[in-house]
Amino acid sequence: MVVKPFANEPLSNFAVPEKHRDMLDALNLVESQLGNTYPLIVGGKELHTKESFRSVNPSNKDQVIGFVSKADPKLAEQAIQSAFEAFNTWKRKTFSERAGYLFKAAAVMRRKKSELSAWMCYEAGKTWAEADADTAEAIDFLEYYGRQAIAMEQPVPLVSIAGEVNEQVYIPLGVGVVIPPWNFPLAILTGITVSAVVTGNTVVLKPASTTPVIAAKFMQVMQEAGIPDGVINFLPGSGGEIGDFLVDHPKTRFVSFTGSREVGTRIFERAAKVHPGQIWLKRVVAEMGGKDAIVVDKDADVEEAAKQIASSAFSFAGQKCSACSRAILHEDIYHQVANRVVELANQMKVGPAREPASQVGPVIDEHAYQKVLHYIEIGKEEGQLLAGGTPASGNGYYIQPTVFGNVAMHARIAQEEIFGPVVALIKAKDFEHAIDIANDTEYGLTGSVFSHNRDHLEYARREFHVGNLYFNRKCTGALVGVHPFGGFNMSGTDSKAGGPDYLLQFTQAKAVSEKL
Ligand code: NAP
Repeated sequence: MVVKPFANEPLSNFAVPEKHRDMLDALNLVESQLGNTYPLIVGGKELHTKESFRSVNPSNKDQVIGFVSKADPKLAEQAIQSAFEAFNTWKRKTFSERAGYLFKAAAVMRRKKSELSAWMCYEAGKTWAEADADTAEAIDFLEYYGRQAIAMEQPVPLVSIAGEVNEQVYIPLGVGVVIPPWNFPLAILTGITVSAVVTGNTVVLKPASTTPVIAAKFMQVMQEAGIPDGVINFLPGSGGEIGDFLVDHPKTRFVSFTGSREVGTRIFERAAKVHPGQIWLKRVVAEMGGKDAIVVDKDADVEEAAKQIASSAFSFAGQKCSACSRAILHEDIYHQVANRVVELANQMKVGPAREPASQVGPVIDEHAYQKVLHYIEIGKEEGQLLAGGTPASGNGYYIQPTVFGNVAMHARIAQEEIFGPVVALIKAKDFEHAIDIANDTEYGLTGSVFSHNRDHLEYARREFHVGNLYFNRKCTGALVGVHPFGGFNMSGTDSKAGGPDYLLQFTQAKAVSEKL
């Protein structure tokens, strides 16, 4: 198959009147479809359950996004069996054949780009720009993994010996359980599902319970792209109720998870146990949390650093695994940077995600809202409240961008993932001290350094222990193919989503030798 080289999907410029109108039209279209019901899809069949759950708009607690059927262990069993059956035929397709479905799905998504983004404004509380970036990333994953899969058809270079022909090929693993988070409800869901599928596995996809409708839209895209029945089984339901069942199942061959450290470690432990009838050791790919830091050196561009701290900390209300939640500032420029970050935080407009003027939307649900407000109370004991610190007005889960100053490196707000619009400012006595503080965490996902000192940048390149390190730019906004993404330590299993090694995780290598 001949495909043109991968290029990232461009982001929409909503300052262009046509784009702006297009997004408003999409929001109106989606609004007219709120409150619909969505089934499970098992073996290509739609299953409506008696018990369903509601998805609610975090920007407006009274607005129902949709009613979604809810799986129980019996239906989860059905979904695993369906994936197991479909594996027999799906695994026999070539990488190129399977990639074809991804390219088709990318084309479908591109046609529905504004509509998919609009669903995320409503269901995930993403502002226009954030929702647009999420859809673009989903398209990128389809295009990128399709190409990476085709490349896996190339012969693997082996040492040749006389009298034998040898080859190594990559074959799929089997049935995977795919468990995405709500914070990139289209991009990560798409990425972790299609990476498993394009390599020949079949999956049970259990979406996050706060964003099941956008997950249902993904299923519609894949069905429109003609994905065969049983290859992706769509199983909304509570992680607490069906998660263990899916992970423990003896026919589950691997789990691809993105979410919290708490759930990730639980899955990792449970998957290690071999159950009766299970004839393999399960593989777990787990991408987890972060406590990401931006380090600002004494000679850095203060204005730029402050802008990027504010952007990394408060966009999408700080609900990115890569969000800056610690800004570690050299003592010589501490006050300058702190004052500017505070100004920027105070200027940010908090409001409903569907309003184009909103820069910071709500946090995802009541649980997140209470958790973030609780951490803010802890922060008031541990540091100096410089900005925010209160809920923002509106009928949603709004919280003011919050800045704490003079936070100690071991304070809870400097160690625990808050996952909200809260940043802790920490003072460092010199650059090495700043990197020591940055590394003093159980996580290791993203980090940035602002410095004009080449020796310091080289020092950080070696010593700053994160999976994604950025110099003189923000610590969010990784692009597929450009910034392979994933972290160290408790941030995950060290895989790199959107990178050239990623697909290998969903395969096993088979060597075949023929004596001539
Ligand atoms: P979460 O609470 O861990 O949930 C993630 C997924 O796990 C959801 O689908 C959830 O289902 C499911 N789940 C819950 N309990 C389960 C169980 N016992 N067994 C199996 N699955 C279970 O995380 P989240 O709040 O959705 O996402 C935020 C977290 O993800 C943050 O920590 C963030 O840093 C991390 N994250 C990491 C990356 C990365 O690349 N490293 C990217 C994005 C997000 P329910 O919704 O039904 O509970």
